[in-house]
Amino acid sequence: MAVHRRDVSAVAVVLALLWLVAPAIGTTPVDAAGRLRVAASIFPLYDIVRHVAGSAAEVVLVLPPGASPHTFEPTPATVRALAGASVIFVVGHGLDDWAARLARGAGVPDPVRVDRGIRLRRVYAGGGADPHYWLSAPNGKRIATTVAAELERRAPDRGAEIQRALAAYLARLDTADREIRRLLADLPNRRIATVHDAFGYFADAYGLEVAAAFEAFPGREPGPRFVVEFQRKIRASGVGMVFTEPQLSVAALRPIARDLGVTLGVLDPLGGLPGREGYVELLLWDARAVAAAARGVTP
Ligand SMILES: [Zn+2]
Repeated sequence: MAVHRRDVSAVAVVLALLWLVAPAIGTTPVDAAGRLRVAASIFPLYDIVRHVAGSAAEVVLVLPPGASPHTFEPTPATVRALAGASVIFVVGHGLDDWAARLARGAGVPDPVRVDRGIRLRRVYAGGGADPHYWLSAPNGKRIATTVAAELERRAPDRGAEIQRALAAYLARLDTADREIRRLLADLPNRRIATVHDAFGYFADAYGLEVAAAFEAFPGREPGPRFVVEFQRKIRASGVGMVFTEPQLSVAALRPIARDLGVTLGVLDPLGGLPGREGYVELLLWDARAVAAAARGVTP
C-alpha cells in the first residue's frame, strides 16, 4: 500500500512538472517581431493567407510560382523553408499531398485543409473530388474565413487585427466577384474546353460550361492520343473556346484550334506570375481571358 502511494505521488510529481512546462510546449512559435510563421502549399492559398494575416504572420509559399502541384517534387531546401512554421494550409483531396509529407519532415503539425463550408464537385476528369475549389470568389471568401479562424486560434492576441484584415479582404473579393460577373455577362458562347480540368468551380460560379477537359497528366504536355480524343469531344460539344494553361505551350495547340475553328486562350489556375500577382488578380485575369476568347481574341 505504501509502495502504491509512493507511485501515486511520483505520478503526481510528473503531472505537476508537465503542467509547469505545458504552457511552453503549447505556445505557438513566433519570430522576434511576435509574428507567427505559417506556410501555404500553393500560390492562391499563400496570397489569401498573406492578406488575412496582415502583419500577424510571416507566410511561406511551398510550391514555386510556375510549377504544377500535380507534378511537384520537393527538395531538401523546401523542407528547410518550412522549419519553425506552426501550421501549413493545404487544399487537400490529392492536389498537394506532398505538403503532409513535407510538414512531417520539417516538424510542422498536421496540415490544415481550407475546404470548410465548400461543396466539393464530384465530377472531375482526375477522379474523386475536384480539388480546384479555390477558383471562385465565393469559395475564396470561405477559404479566407477558415484561415482567419485558424490564425486567430494560434495568435489570440492578434485577433482584432486578423478580423479587420479579413473584413477588408472579403470586401475586395465581393468587388472582384461583381467585376467577374460583369466581364462574363452576355458572352456569345459559354461553352469552353480546358486542357487541364481545373475550372469546374469557376464555371459553376460564373455560368460557364466546361464541355470537354482531360486530365491525362495534369501539368504535362498531353500525348497525341489525348489530343485526338480532345478534338473529338470539342467537335461533338459545340465548344467555342479552348483553354490551355501557362505551363503548356500555346503554339502546339494553335493548328488544332484552327482546324476546329475555335478560339484559343490561356487560363491560369495558380497565378503568382506577371499580371496575376495576387489571388484576386488571378480570378480577374481568368475572367478577362474567357471574355476575350469568347469575342474571338487570341493571345
Ligand atoms: Zn490541377
